[in-house]
Amino acid sequence: MSEAASDVCARCGRSRVADSPTEALAWVAEVEGGRTSWLCPACVREHVRDIEGKLPAEYW
Ligand SMILES: [Zn+2]
Repeated sequence: MSEAASDVCARCGRSRVADSPTEALAWVAEVEGGRTSWLCPACVREHVRDIEGKLPAEYW
């Protein structure tokens, strides 16, 4: 893939390309309004907790 340069975590700004290939696999892409945003594994964990808690997006 050639669009790797834009793969940074939407929450903490961590670079996906700087991660090891194993770590990079744990990243999650979210498509919102036609835009793809990435979440690093650490933020995914936080994010999943938010989803499970059904908190409104404004909360975080
Ligand atoms: Zn992150």
